[in-house]
Amino acid sequence: MDAVVGMEGEGPGPSGKPKKIGVVIVGDDAVALDYVAVNLVGLNLKKVFTITEGFRRGYGVKSPDDIQVRGEPLEDMRITDFKAPRSAVMGGIIWPLTSPTIKNLFVEKPVPRTDACTLCYNCMKVCPAGAITKADEAGIPRYNYRKCIRCFCCMETCPEAAIDLKKGALQWLMRT
Ligand code: SF4
Ligand code: SF4
Repeated sequence: MDAVVGMEGEGPGPSGKPKKIGVVIVGDDAVALDYVAVNLVGLNLKKVFTITEGFRRGYGVKSPDDIQVRGEPLEDMRITDFKAPRSAVMGGIIWPLTSPTIKNLFVEKPVPRTDACTLCYNCMKVCPAGAITKADEAGIPRYNYRKCIRCFCCMETCPEAAIDLKKGALQWLMRT
């Protein structure tokens, strides 16, 4: 993981802010690697469900006790003022995300803004789910949220930072 310069705030893409972290993390276990990175910047592990579920499902190490950190001690590298995004996917609670209805109710969705979108269609070109088509009458690309897999690649690639995250209608229920 290249974390020499990371990103804090509402990433991915230009909506976030570059943040000097100053480390490269190397490991052959993705769950362990993510655990170390999250620890480094002091995020709440309970809200990072890819890690908590990774432990639970045995995708890599089963717990933090199984992780050995070599090289510089974590304490010496820790970033204390890292700003987490305001958003958090479902507060760490796992639901059947593959169901479009549940997804639309409980997971944030990317929404282009009419005041900033220039209709460059970078978002449409990179969308792996084919969920974006040409502009509708509102003058912004049309998103099919039943197809959208919430990878947020469109946000990452938008040169205008014109895509906001909008909460699912019932997402407030999932806060911890
Ligand atoms: S990438 Fe951004 S600016 Fe370009 S069409 Fe999509 S939302 Fe609009
Ligand atoms: S979040 Fe991913 S799947 Fe959804 S519209 Fe954007 S690029 Fe496509």
